[in-house]
Amino acid sequence: MYLRCSDERCAMKLELHQRALMCPRCGELLEVAAGTLMFSPQVLKELWWNRRCSRDPRDRSGVWRFREFLPDYPPRDIVTLGEGNVPLVPGIKSGAWAGLSDIRFQHLGWNPTACFKDLGMTVGITEARFQGARTVACASTGNTAGSMAAYAARAGIAARVYLPAGAVSPNKVAQALDYGAEIIEVKGSFDRALETLRHQAGPDLYFLNSINPFRLEGQKTVMFELLEELGWRSPDYVVVPGGNLGNTAAFGKALYELKTAGLIAKVPRLVVVQAEGANPLVRTWRAGSDELLVVNEPRTAATAIRIGAPVSWKKALKALRFTGGLAIDVTDDEIAEAKSVIGRDGIGCEPASATTLAAARKLVRGGTIPRDASVVAILTGHVLKDTDYITRSRYTAAPSEVEAAAVRSSAEVQAD
Ligand SMILES: *Cc1c(COP(=O)(O)O)cnc(C)c1O
Ligand SMILES: [Zn+2]
Repeated sequence: MYLRCSDERCAMKLELHQRALMCPRCGELLEVAAGTLMFSPQVLKELWWNRRCSRDPRDRSGVWRFREFLPDYPPRDIVTLGEGNVPLVPGIKSGAWAGLSDIRFQHLGWNPTACFKDLGMTVGITEARFQGARTVACASTGNTAGSMAAYAARAGIAARVYLPAGAVSPNKVAQALDYGAEIIEVKGSFDRALETLRHQAGPDLYFLNSINPFRLEGQKTVMFELLEELGWRSPDYVVVPGGNLGNTAAFGKALYELKTAGLIAKVPRLVVVQAEGANPLVRTWRAGSDELLVVNEPRTAATAIRIGAPVSWKKALKALRFTGGLAIDVTDDEIAEAKSVIGRDGIGCEPASATTLAAARKLVRGGTIPRDASVVAILTGHVLKDTDYITRSRYTAAPSEVEAAAVRSSAEVQAD
């Protein structure tokens, strides 16, 4: 395996284990290029399935179980918290609400730090430690911070996170603090926080935003796990929220590699969903533009996807084109309603995740997705990630108050 420039016209090759995150020749993002596979599709499918019964920590991880498609590390260098292997849960009320007979949720919020970022972070931190990094850093809308802090703590590496001041759920800040991260608040949006971090980069600092190609390798396994769960038959649509677009890029790469290796016959269409006030990819997609149409002041109550200049937009467009997918936006009110419906299914998620159900309904109503299509919605974060949002929502009833009943002693009860 090696690193390669993600721009096909450049395609510069670099050695795998190194600090460069951008192509030194053209400045584009890098990606991990797969080596040659030594196994047939059938052998791989059986190998991966059988690993579910193994006691090896790598086999128990829903990421490292698929390590034939990941960078190779000595077994004891791998930093894992047993991430992945989340269930696929059918939506019942959600299906009725969206007008779909077959919608399932792949709930990545049911991971060690309650967010999908763990799947990428197990690989990112493993690589950081492999390279001997002392400090890892990221800019974050909250969840990357928590995930990086947890995995860094496991690896014995210091963690430093840059957050947009006042724009991150307090639950997420608390989580990163608990794992012992150093937190730096930056005035302005996530994009400003990321810019600020980029100016801090030094030889001791290992950069773990989704610009990092190793993180995307881990996130790829979401598609592996999903397709394995479905007996390697693709659903018609996979719907995913889009912020910095690392997930979208990783899913596209996964589907390309699985199709090329002959593990699946057809790929699902990828649908990327953004909030109307933070929709740079949707604008770019609609305009058919070759330049990113940046949103200068992104606005949405779904703070995890409040991003105006996503770094992986080119990779995301490539994923949409390859899978025959599309990009769509939904309003904050549609997100709030969809979130409450997912809650009523006994599942729950954070606001950004609920964009998926809101978009599914919109696409069914508009006639793009047929009612009998099979749809998998990717829920990216846990319901407890943003509790303020829930208590403020107009789709949840406020708790009611009653006078407490008088408590009587057992002696009084007997005297009656
Ligand atoms: C990070 C995050 C997203 C956005 O993912 P990208 O890979 O940046 O597009 C969506 N939802 C939640 C809950 C997140 O934490
Ligand atoms: Zn290049």
